[in-house]
Amino acid sequence: YQNGFDCQGLWVEVQVERELNLNSKRDIESYGIDRFSDACRARVDRSAAAITKQSIRLGQWMDWDHSYFTYTDNNISHIWHVLKICQERGWLYKGHRSMPWCARCGTALSQHEMIDSYREMTHTSIYAKLPIEGKSGEFFLVWTTTPWTLPANVALAVHPELDYVRARVNGETLVLGKKVYETLELPGASVVETVKGRALLGLRYRGPFDELPAAAPAKAVHRVISWDAVSEAEGTGIVHIAPGCGAEDFGLSKTESLPVLVPIDDSARFVRGYGWLEGKEARDVAQEIADDLNARGFLLRATPYTHRYPVCWRCKEEIVFRVDDEWFISMDELRPQLMAAAREVSWVPAAAGARMQNWLQNMGDWNISRKRYWGLPLPFYTCANGHFFVLGSEEELREHAIRGLEGLRDLHRPWIDAVVVGCPTCNAASKRVKEVGDCWLDAGVVPFSTLDWLHDRAYWEQWFPADFVVEMVEQVRLWFYSALFFSVVLAGRAPYRTNGSHAAVLAAPGEEFHKTGANMLELGEACEEVGADVIRWLYARQNPQENVYWGAAPTDDIKRRLLTLWNTYSFFITYANLDAFDPNASEVPAKERPLIDRWLLSALARLVRDCREALDRYDSATAAHKMEAFWEDLSTWYVRRNRRRFWQAASATDSAAAYQTLYEALTTLARLFAPMMPFLAEAMYQNLVRNVRRGAEASVHHTSYPDVPADRIDEALERRMRAAMRVVALGRAARSAAGVKTRTPLPKLIAVFDAGDRDHGALDGQDELAAVICDELNVKAFEVRDRAEGLVKEIVKPELKALGPRLGKDLPRVRAALHAGRYTSVDGGIEVEGFTLSPEEVLVSHEGTPGHTVGKDAGAVVALETTLTADLEAEGLARELVRRVNDLRKEAGFEIADRIVLRYAGPIAPTIERFSDLVGSETLATSLRPGLTGRGHKWSGELNGVSAELELEKA
Ligand SMILES: [Zn+2]
Ligand SMILES: [Zn+2]
Repeated sequence: YQNGFDCQGLWVEVQVERELNLNSKRDIESYGIDRFSDACRARVDRSAAAITKQSIRLGQWMDWDHSYFTYTDNNISHIWHVLKICQERGWLYKGHRSMPWCARCGTALSQHEMIDSYREMTHTSIYAKLPIEGKSGEFFLVWTTTPWTLPANVALAVHPELDYVRARVNGETLVLGKKVYETLELPGASVVETVKGRALLGLRYRGPFDELPAAAPAKAVHRVISWDAVSEAEGTGIVHIAPGCGAEDFGLSKTESLPVLVPIDDSARFVRGYGWLEGKEARDVAQEIADDLNARGFLLRATPYTHRYPVCWRCKEEIVFRVDDEWFISMDELRPQLMAAAREVSWVPAAAGARMQNWLQNMGDWNISRKRYWGLPLPFYTCANGHFFVLGSEEELREHAIRGLEGLRDLHRPWIDAVVVGCPTCNAASKRVKEVGDCWLDAGVVPFSTLDWLHDRAYWEQWFPADFVVEMVEQVRLWFYSALFFSVVLAGRAPYRTNGSHAAVLAAPGEEFHKTGANMLELGEACEEVGADVIRWLYARQNPQENVYWGAAPTDDIKRRLLTLWNTYSFFITYANLDAFDPNASEVPAKERPLIDRWLLSALARLVRDCREALDRYDSATAAHKMEAFWEDLSTWYVRRNRRRFWQAASATDSAAAYQTLYEALTTLARLFAPMMPFLAEAMYQNLVRNVRRGAEASVHHTSYPDVPADRIDEALERRMRAAMRVVALGRAARSAAGVKTRTPLPKLIAVFDAGDRDHGALDGQDELAAVICDELNVKAFEVRDRAEGLVKEIVKPELKALGPRLGKDLPRVRAALHAGRYTSVDGGIEVEGFTLSPEEVLVSHEGTPGHTVGKDAGAVVALETTLTADLEAEGLARELVRRVNDLRKEAGFEIADRIVLRYAGPIAPTIERFSDLVGSETLATSLRPGLTGRGHKWSGELNGVSAELELEKA
């Protein structure tokens, strides 16, 4: 339960630069790297404290006093150790490479920092004409969206198999791709000749800025080279190659032995040798370059061009490409080992595992260096005699130090840079390189540094690898990857057994949250607003592969779901207090409890089993949905069907059985969702268990996760209860079709299940479930039959749209035959009047035969007898009266358990007297008296058309 914080790298530096109003590396250096480092550390500590506070508010349970911080010397020392191994195995190298470069941050960005960092923007694109040597008045036409790279031009590339034209335009000859020529709309142009690109190879040309001193090495070699990547999709089919300004161009410089001109420095300003451009910012000069080319006759046209272009992921400034020295870890040897280790991990969802394989397959060597300040100092040293070496730990640093240790506050710049160490080979004084490390090195080493792998291997072995790690799916190429890297190097296996990943939280209706945007919501405020457990349940029940939406609608929906549970809990508390229910009393054996109790206990046992299975698979959504379904049934079926047992049970045993059953359901539920809703679970547990049960554990979070023996699940009973619930649902439809008040009993409900239906044979019309169905639907009898003949009439009508055109004049005859029932059903179709009609050509419905109404689904039909008798109507009236009296009790403000005296007058009198037991027990009336006294709470009116005058008082 150790929490931790990523503390170093560009994200911290960028924020601190904003705080201190520093705008460049020069600003930082004049501010002082020592003060800057202090400010970065302070900023991290502030953020960590805020995050810790929020996490605690959210109910996260961690050893908060021992959170790890990646800026510690221990973390750094562990990374040094791995970097030294990389050097010993020949994986570490210094590369001269074209990298994406942020001019504001003054550092290269690596491959994994570039994904998703594209924005749409508009640049000045330039069509430039470059004179072909030895062919007067003839030019290559090239196109670029980064005009600042033209002064670094070295070569031009064509595809050898593409068609190119020589075209006459305004007295000049332009060479360009044939397809491009056709779309470029050059007024008055005509084609002189069409050639293959191969015919252009080796031609020499004049560069656009050959007069600049810096262009001298390129001037000598300008020529047309062959490149298969050239396409006609955009541009002119002739690509301007500047190896100092692009990764692919740099690659060509290797294969074609081209010089590399690096025109800009680390803040993207032109360096010496670039004449009038010197000191100007590369991204500012597009128009000036266009004007300059135009003045010198090199420009065909300059136009705005909108495209997606990469930006720095931290500061959002548009990037440039720049060649510089960077440190890399070669992945050739490691790649197959990483892929093999990743395959051993259980990925949840599985798609993340495929994503990791894909990333590992396609990633390049890892650029681990950043030309920055607040970060892991790379422990790379070169001595005065040119020996290169890597220090593998803080201990090694101290051992080899010649001077500067006394000022070493911690392993950060600038203090580390003041330490001079002796070369292990020749003992000459050696200095560290200036670079710091990629922050993903810091994050990746934590499975080792937090378990103090360097100093306490036994402790590390006790906890490594982690059972479970979870983060957003983007971490596949970031943290999950870097941790995998360290783990494969040091332990030869993945650092996590199961890897969980999730999609994003979006502001409904689907916008991203922005830390600085209007929709920014602080977690603490959200917790106060909707409750931490609502937030947690929203996430817990979410399919982690899909984005979760935050807003009033989703949180209201969660609250509504939780309210169902809360109302059941509150119902229990109310009656348990009234009845002084004692959870310490001996339990009514399960087999002596009523069927519905045994059903609930079986459903509860199944829930426990399902939750365990789901959580063992790290599938919280399935567990949460099953819990919701259970508490929904608990409320709408168990409690609703059993209310009476909590205030007027048939016997003390029946009462105890009901309380004990509901108590077990609620206390088990609290323990089941305790990991997901710790606050609600604890509140319920304290009240239901801790305060009243002898020897109860202090907290729900101290109890073990529920477990039940499998034999408590009664499959047959659950199946039969499901069938009964289904019959009740169908019966409700039939009852509402009957148009008779629900309180008026009806004679009988008959159910017929298709022979192949899953519930066929589940009910028999005799047992306790039949009584449940009768009670639910207020019918006097329930019967199951094999056939629906005589109860249900099938009505078949022609689907006129389909049949009209087909049958034409035969339609009225067919319709009449269908109406009269003169047809036979065959294999889903209908045979009628010599025609066979498909299911799409008819509308089939069902209605009751006279005296019946019907409810039907795919495999079952119920028929409700609707014929009323005087007895049934009288009972219906008595039940209507009960409802009226109970409403009156509520209006009078009586307590649930208050006993009453009921007085009455008017034509209702005979009904009250006939049903005195029913009325007395259902209204808690201890006496029913004819005649009014003028005291108490009064009501008069009509019930089912019968006049009644009522008075009631507390007994
Ligand atoms: Zn940046
Ligand atoms: Zn040396």
